[in-house]
Amino acid sequence: MSYVIDPPAQPAVAVHGAAAKFPVRRIFCVGRNYADHVREMGNDPKSEPPIFFTKPADAVVANGAAIPYAANTANLHFEVELVLALGKGGADIPADKALDGVWGYAVGVDLTRRDRQAEAKKGGAPWDAAKAFDNSAPIGEIVPVASGSHLGEGRIWLAVNGETKQDADLADMIWSAPEIIAHLSRSWTLQPGDLIFTGTPAGVGPVKPGDKVECGVAGLPTLRFMIV
Ligand code: MN
Repeated sequence: MSYVIDPPAQPAVAVHGAAAKFPVRRIFCVGRNYADHVREMGNDPKSEPPIFFTKPADAVVANGAAIPYAANTANLHFEVELVLALGKGGADIPADKALDGVWGYAVGVDLTRRDRQAEAKKGGAPWDAAKAFDNSAPIGEIVPVASGSHLGEGRIWLAVNGETKQDADLADMIWSAPEIIAHLSRSWTLQPGDLIFTGTPAGVGPVKPGDKVECGVAGLPTLRFMIV
C-alpha cells in the first residue's frame, strides 16, 4: 500500500511491565457517572441512559508529560477517570459478558474546556471543542487484567500541587464498567484498541500553567503530568 501523504502514526499507550504498547483505535467517554448528589436527593441515577462522547485516538498523552495549556479556553478542567482498554469488541454485548472484552485498566484524565462546554450545553451544540482537542486524554500505564482482577471498587483520586481535589470510590459509579460496555455496544460495534473513559466523580476544577497533577485508582500506577 502506498499513500499520497505519510500515514499518521498509530497512537498507543504504555503497558505496565511490558515493552509492547497498546494501540488505540478510538476513545469513548461517559458523561456524568457518579451519583454523589443524585442518590442523596432520592432520585434514581439510572432514570436516564448514559451519555457518550468521543475524543480522537491521538488525544492520548503518556505519563509524565508536560502538557501545553490548551488553546481556545480560559477554564481548562481536570476529570480523573478509570479507563477500560478493550482487547475484544462486538455489538450488543450483554453486561454479564462485557468484562471478557476488557484487556486492561488505566487511570486517565478527561481534560475539558469547561467554558466551551458551557456554551455548547447552552446552545445545544456538539461537545467536540470542549472535549475532543489535542492532548486532551493523558493516560497512565495500562495494567493487563491477566496480571490482576477486574476493578469494580477502590479509591479514585486526583491532586493538584499536592492538594487533593477529587476523592471517591469506583463503587459510586452510576453505570458500572459492564453496563457501560453493554450500552456502548448497542450504538457502536466495539473494536480491539478502543478505550473507554468511564466518567469522573465530584471535585472537578481548573488547572493553570505550572500546575502538577497526580491521580490514581487503587491498584493502578499513578498518572502524573504538568501543565505548561
Ligand atoms: Mn469526563
